[in-house]
Amino acid sequence: MHAFYVPIRDDDGFLPGVGGEDDGLKGGLNGIDNGRLHFDGVRIPRTNLLNRYGDVAADGTYSSPIASKGRRFFTMIGTLVQGRVSLDGSAVVASKLALKIAITYGSQRRQFTAADPKREEVILDYQRHQRRLLPRLATTYAMSFAHETLLAAFDGVFSGSHDTDADRQDLETLAAGFKALSTWAALDILQESREACGGAGFLAENRLTQLRADLDVYATFEGDNTVLLQLVAKRLLGDYSKKFKGADARTVAGLVAGQVGQASVDRSGLRRLAQTVTDLGSTGRAVGHVRDEETQRTLLTGRVETMVAEIASRLRPAAHASAEDAAALFDANQNDLIEAARAHAELLQWEAFTAALAGVPDAPTRRVLTWLRDLFGLTLIEKQLAWYLIHGRLSGQRAVAITDYIDDRLLPRLRPHALDLVESFGFAPEHVRAPIASGAEQQRQEEAAAARTAR
Ligand SMILES: Cc1cc2nc3c(=O)[nH]c(=O)nc-3n(C[C@H](O)[C@H](O)[C@H](O)COP(=O)(O)OP(=O)(O)OC[C@H]3O[C@@H](n4cnc5c(N)ncnc54)[C@H](O)[C@@H]3O)c2cc1C
Repeated sequence: MHAFYVPIRDDDGFLPGVGGEDDGLKGGLNGIDNGRLHFDGVRIPRTNLLNRYGDVAADGTYSSPIASKGRRFFTMIGTLVQGRVSLDGSAVVASKLALKIAITYGSQRRQFTAADPKREEVILDYQRHQRRLLPRLATTYAMSFAHETLLAAFDGVFSGSHDTDADRQDLETLAAGFKALSTWAALDILQESREACGGAGFLAENRLTQLRADLDVYATFEGDNTVLLQLVAKRLLGDYSKKFKGADARTVAGLVAGQVGQASVDRSGLRRLAQTVTDLGSTGRAVGHVRDEETQRTLLTGRVETMVAEIASRLRPAAHASAEDAAALFDANQNDLIEAARAHAELLQWEAFTAALAGVPDAPTRRVLTWLRDLFGLTLIEKQLAWYLIHGRLSGQRAVAITDYIDDRLLPRLRPHALDLVESFGFAPEHVRAPIASGAEQQRQEEAAAARTAR
């Protein structure tokens, strides 16, 4: 695959042989035009070839600094990863902005009276409002730290400091996983933030509806999210089969039944299959342990490893089957595969968040961020309680303890810090540009309270 520079028009319109049309109005992102081009008998000079990785000499000889055809193809196509990295960053920023708006508004807007008959409650003091916004805030922090690791991997490859084939493949996998998760999360966060601001959230001036419309296509372009997760899953299976090549059934069964300790995370942030397989029985820990870092890691890692091992063992017959039967078997496991890829990317986000905690020098700040990381980890586990219960990783009692811990401990602890946590995103008023997050609501509430007192 090679890229050419092709002039398509001059002041009078399309050049001879070139045609095209605009795609028309889209569901969002109309600030960017999309269209189609077609070429018929268009000739361009060979010097229009973007020739960093492949060139054609005057005598027609082809040359390339990359000898392997396969490597050349992946180097060329690899430049496309930049789009996915950028989309991941944009999705993180949009999520931060949505939460900045919703949490600011939620801290000022008053609705209904609970304790004080004279003064209505601030809506962020309602548990349900905290449940809607704070776990999403935790996810946004996790996505943000994960994006930093993606940028580091991206820099490694594109600066040339770490650009082996393996580095490039790691970058591809990380970008595919993070882009899929963050763009989906951004849509969910924008919608929940919009609803959390009630009718005011629906006003165009408060930006949430337009941002959501613009970000909608992020789930599709630069690679459809579902297809990207399939790419991640294939990589997980590939790594797994390399690791357990020639392993006997008992080793594999041991991994399926067991769980992993001491899994390693390499420089790129990609998680490798673990070296050691420990006994499932050791998860039998006290309720208090459910919240500790190592337990979260063990539960999250164990799920990924078990899912991959289970799928791999179901796919084993494919190695000796006809192409048709192998494809059918793969398809029969596709849904689980994609779920495993999602679980893997979530684990990487959790690891990125956890690694970032170590770099926070201020102890009280670290404590608050650790609660937020716990909220992220426990919310991930809570979402998959059925899996953990079915696989005997959590008892029913411990499963209940997770939800109780979120509702009774983490949300009340984090509530007083919610404004600081969105303040730390560093948006200035000219970035936010949403009247409901400008302090206007606070002023309106104070005026209403003053008027009531005067009556
Ligand atoms: C606004 C916009 C701008 C774009 N800009 C560019 C651009 O600049 N350059 C460019 O090259 N492209 C561009 N694209 C194209 C974009 O990359 C593709 O639309 C995208 O990759 C999805 O491909 P598709 O539309 O063919 O969807 P399809 O592949 O037809 O997918 C449709 C649905 O089927 C599902 N599906 C597909 N395959 C599988 C499978 N194997 N298993 C399970 N489910 C599957 C998908 O998950 C998806 O939900 C743009 C698209 C849009 C909307």
